[in-house]
Amino acid sequence: MGAGPAGSAAAIAALRARPDARVLLLDRAAPGRDKVCGDGIAPHAVAELARLGIDAVQPAEHVAAVRLIAPRGRSSGAVTASPGYVVPRREFDERMLRAAIAAGARFEQHRVATVQTDAEGAVVDGRWRAPAVIGADGATGVVRRAVGERPNRGRELAVALRGYAPTPSGTARELVIRWDTHRAGGLCYAWAFPTAHGTTNVGYGMSAAALTGGRAQLERRMRELLPEYDLEGVALTGHTLPLSVARPAAAVGPVLLVGDAASLINPLTGEGIYTAIASGALAGAAAVQHPSDAGRRYSEALEARFGRQFRQLRRLYPLVDSRLALDVVLRATERRPELFDRLLDVGLGDRAFRARDVVAFAAAGWRPGGRAA
Ligand SMILES: Cc1cc2nc3c(=O)[nH]c(=O)nc-3n(C[C@H](O)[C@H](O)[C@H](O)COP(=O)(O)OP(=O)(O)OC[C@H]3O[C@@H](n4cnc5c(N)ncnc54)[C@H](O)[C@@H]3O)c2cc1C
Repeated sequence: MGAGPAGSAAAIAALRARPDARVLLLDRAAPGRDKVCGDGIAPHAVAELARLGIDAVQPAEHVAAVRLIAPRGRSSGAVTASPGYVVPRREFDERMLRAAIAAGARFEQHRVATVQTDAEGAVVDGRWRAPAVIGADGATGVVRRAVGERPNRGRELAVALRGYAPTPSGTARELVIRWDTHRAGGLCYAWAFPTAHGTTNVGYGMSAAALTGGRAQLERRMRELLPEYDLEGVALTGHTLPLSVARPAAAVGPVLLVGDAASLINPLTGEGIYTAIASGALAGAAAVQHPSDAGRRYSEALEARFGRQFRQLRRLYPLVDSRLALDVVLRATERRPELFDRLLDVGLGDRAFRARDVVAFAAAGWRPGGRAA
């Protein structure tokens, strides 16, 4: 249920595992809908798509460099080992949905209201029965609530505004993340990600716990942190990010939760497309390979893949609010490019820091000196 990256990946993985499976994708919106997002497609997501046999990105959408700017102005930029992409979600999600349909999934535009479970599986809106149902209906979906799991709140949730601004001439083709100088009790930064259409996806996100001034607060900080972008007449739209620091059960009976519906967004970076695709693929395969035991199989597979990272990032999450920690990390990545790649593997992929990474970051980042842009 839900035909975003998680739902389409689930459908494709199910059909790859069992080409004769009957897969129905329900979404309240027609193909080609927008999703408020930074549109940054991590290399890890692209690799996951390749494993599913899908090529949902194009060479013109490629971005090879990432620049991180710490609150006190220290800036660390690097050409990453593997490229990322910026693809407006209207296009990216439609490509994935078309790939799911081409693989054999049936799509219906339908807004789901109820999911009921019984001994044989689940029934959606009293109309569709299946041995397993995958809840891929995003941050504000209904499936999670239907199975009794509470939504994320406070510092477990981030809120963000996004718009498409004209790209100023001469702007480098790189992803820019600029952390806020304010202490916000969690994730808090502005971004500027250039699309292939002469626009830049600009946005600002922060912990919901620190949002006291509503949309105006987000908009003001975004303008202050991205002064080089002309936001006059740019439509800014908001959405929430359920962070993996507080997750519901991965499965309740025959109902499997994936992507944002399962709160799988990385709390260090706000990345959620890769985890949506990876979790969707695990759930889709479990649903057709072990229909009577899909929930347990999926929960185990998710734990094996991400469990260590989820636990570690929950402990590290308070550090994203520490200017000192951000300075140390950025200084370390400036000095040792392999630490930059490690940071991206944790922030965008399924890796956790090893003890020796922590020692390496501290050793390289504590020493004063080095450049500050
Ligand atoms: C402002 C912002 C910036 C972000 N930037 C990035 C980024 O740059 N890179 C990154 O990796 N991640 C980013 N994320 C996170 C990313 O957008 C999500 O993690 C990702 O979209 C999750 O995919 P999903 O398939 O789980 O859910 P979604 O993409 O939200 O898809 C859910 C689908 O379910 C459908 N649906 C909802 N309710 C129902 C219903 N009742 N019945 C039927 N269908 C329903 C919706 O129409 C939608 O198609 C950002 C998030 C925000 C808010």
